[in-house]
Amino acid sequence: MQLIPCPWCGPREEAEFHYGGQAHVAYPEDPRALTDQEWARFVFFRDNPCGPFAERWSHSAGCRRWFNAVRDTRTYELLSVYRVGEPMPEVSERDEVVS
Ligand SMILES: [Zn+2]
Repeated sequence: MQLIPCPWCGPREEAEFHYGGQAHVAYPEDPRALTDQEWARFVFFRDNPCGPFAERWSHSAGCRRWFNAVRDTRTYELLSVYRVGEPMPEVSERDEVVS
């Protein structure tokens, strides 16, 4: 089990966290203007990269706050964590924050 560094609490066991899907998915400005196909794309379609991927996580068994993390989907390694509202940091595969 790996440690995940909550931006407020510090490193905690992965079991304390809840995965919340892709980060930076903006809610449509005018949902009523979308076609059914566009709405379905917003609700169901997410990126599936091979490499760094920005995700939402909640420290559900701790401070219960949401934050974002960049995880390498090939290795499951966390490359960066940052608070909601902060821009996604540039990462490289050597920037792993938890080993
Ligand atoms: Zn926390």
